[in-house]
Amino acid sequence: MNDVMQVSILASSSQGNSLFIKTPKQQLLIDAGLSGKKIKNLLTSIGQDITQLDSILVTHEHSDHIRGVGVLARRYGLDVYANQKTWQAMAPKIGQIPPKQKHLLAANTVFNLGGIDVESFSVSHDAIDPQFYNIHYAGKSFVDLTDTGYVSDRMKYIIQNADAILMECNHDLQMLRDGCYPWSLKQRIISDEGHLSNHDGAQALIDVIGNRTQQVFLGHLSPENNYKTLAHQTVAQILMAADLGVDYDFTLHDTDPQQATKLLTI
Ligand SMILES: [Zn+2]
Ligand SMILES: [Zn+2]
Repeated sequence: MNDVMQVSILASSSQGNSLFIKTPKQQLLIDAGLSGKKIKNLLTSIGQDITQLDSILVTHEHSDHIRGVGVLARRYGLDVYANQKTWQAMAPKIGQIPPKQKHLLAANTVFNLGGIDVESFSVSHDAIDPQFYNIHYAGKSFVDLTDTGYVSDRMKYIIQNADAILMECNHDLQMLRDGCYPWSLKQRIISDEGHLSNHDGAQALIDVIGNRTQQVFLGHLSPENNYKTLAHQTVAQILMAADLGVDYDFTLHDTDPQQATKLLTI
């Protein structure tokens, strides 16, 4: 087997998120924010066997990231990793997990998991202690970054020039403003502890895409306040206006709430 990292975004939206990462020695999910059954079916749809999974890395305790964590951990004996505060916050929501499967993964550290270097970094979001991940394997890196109100210089430094990046494009600001959400929820989403808009995601990408970057995924779209073609066109236009080679130097991928992206070698 080739010693490479492969990635599929199994599902991404504000309704449920799960990413699959495969190396010869380790198969893991970042988040399991859909039912166990849905995640099993999504893995099957890309030719993968859920019984081969080893672990789940959790970003934060919101239900669109942890819905299936307990069920999957129990059924398949998976090791689950989260920081201490996130464990405390999600414990009542996911049911019992055998203590030997519960592991701490502190924010802003690098942790070796079956030959993968998992780099955790804090984000700005209204959860207890949210952290996202830069996954390093065999000289390549894959970044998952959603659920943050803004992208700080520190985050940009950590994710700079990754080979592949999943970047949040939660909403179109105009759709959110004009939409039916109550004012308080709109305020929450656009706050510094909310979510990135299409514009915010594009601006962050301008600062972090480098000569190694080959794959860019647009993720965590809100079904109410965004749609795929709008996110894609908005981001593509902003990146091209900044002289970035969309579809030449790197591929801009959409993600879907229900359909996995094809398993891609990073
Ligand atoms: Zn989320
Ligand atoms: Zn969240």
